[in-house]
Amino acid sequence: MYTSFNQVKAALVEQSVTCVSLVDHYIQKIKDREHLNIFLEVFDDSAVAKAKEVDAKIASGTAGKLAGMVIAIKDNICYKDHKVSGSSKILGGFESLFSSTAVERLLAEDAIIIGRTNCDEFAMGSSNENSAYGKVLNPIQEDKVPGGSSGGSAAAVTAGMCLASLGSDTGGSIRQPASFCGNVGLKPTYARISRWGLLAYASSFDQIGPFTHTVEDAALLLEVMAGSDGKDNTASNVLVDHYSKLLEDSNETLTIGVPKDLLTGEGMDDEVLATYKGFINTIKEDGHKVVEFDFPFFDYMVPTYYVLTTAEASANLARYDGAHFGYRSEQATDIDSTYELSRSEGFGMEVKRRIMLGTFVLSAGYMDAYYAKAQKVRRILKTRTEEVFAKADLILTPTTPTTAFGIGENIDDPITMYLQDIFTVYANLVGSPAISIPVGKHSNGLPFGMQLMANDFEESKLLAFSAKYQKKLV
Ligand code: GLN
Repeated sequence: MYTSFNQVKAALVEQSVTCVSLVDHYIQKIKDREHLNIFLEVFDDSAVAKAKEVDAKIASGTAGKLAGMVIAIKDNICYKDHKVSGSSKILGGFESLFSSTAVERLLAEDAIIIGRTNCDEFAMGSSNENSAYGKVLNPIQEDKVPGGSSGGSAAAVTAGMCLASLGSDTGGSIRQPASFCGNVGLKPTYARISRWGLLAYASSFDQIGPFTHTVEDAALLLEVMAGSDGKDNTASNVLVDHYSKLLEDSNETLTIGVPKDLLTGEGMDDEVLATYKGFINTIKEDGHKVVEFDFPFFDYMVPTYYVLTTAEASANLARYDGAHFGYRSEQATDIDSTYELSRSEGFGMEVKRRIMLGTFVLSAGYMDAYYAKAQKVRRILKTRTEEVFAKADLILTPTTPTTAFGIGENIDDPITMYLQDIFTVYANLVGSPAISIPVGKHSNGLPFGMQLMANDFEESKLLAFSAKYQKKLV
């Protein structure tokens, strides 16, 4: 199994493989473990066609910097002339009319897109059990969830079905499954990568990002995808660093912030907590400075996140009305029944729950009490986080309180499920970049990650530090 792009490039140079044979290799891997339900569709034809094109370019010395990188995309990222469904019945049969900017930029550098991966419906979930197309099994222990919502993308990398994949992260959907599946998951700064062509869940939170085996490969993918985009006015104009180069020469001594309350570890698995504390000691021994800071806000994060994201989701998902895209109820007889029946039949339980919650927090009598209040909390979190980053370069927390849980274990308990997101929603609420890197194995045999978060647009610092510790810890 290839575990870095350097290995693939070396194999291409010594001509032990071609891009076409690489695609065949991954398609075989996907077939071998089809029961994991990771891919909703393999793009055999277009992947092989692209591979042939890239092989020719390699031969003529004109290939882009991702030549030979085989990538899977989450089923909420548009790729022209290919199906996209958000793992929802309501988009059944829908085909993208254009490609997302992220995919366009990957293709321009000669990446090969191998297929679309299963996820929680419209990216709402933490276990991939909310997909209309069935759950995904964790490739490490098949009775466990892979995490969510980008569960398929995380599992695909771990199972060796592609070298890297794309997910989207609104509250942890890249970092949490990366932790559960034992790979690297990066959520860039809000607006670092264009959201053009990403099916919107909560527009002021959503970010596309990569899953990879190494931090180096994540840096390379970020470098290719990031940057301003005329098609998404929120995409930032901040200059894109040469992230993959910067990793090489970083020997900076950093100050790492750790939130005080976390060290008491309530609700946290003992081994995860012990590893977290051990990681803090390693950092200190290496000469970095560790500062504890007061941050008594973790209890407010999940509620704030769920008020704001459901409000945004209720507006974003209004477009799926049975008239414009995909699914329409067979029983519909007029415009009202088209909306009502198509939405009732087309959306799953969790999506309905969130649309109703979002509609409620925006309704006339409750808007100030919920939505406006949550916006204020978000502002306070941002201000207090700026104060922390005035003193610390990075913030360290575990990615998740536990390792992957059992399939079905939390499905009837939305609150426990939502608490999965306790450490990850923070970065989305304040917009900062954050990464999960694997730090080892639990005695239960499952991997788990640690999360590092940086100030806005400081991905270079984040990636350089993570790259060093990823190598050191695993
Ligand atoms: N688990 C979180 C949720 O269900 C995060 C989802 C995401 O990041 N897309 O909302």
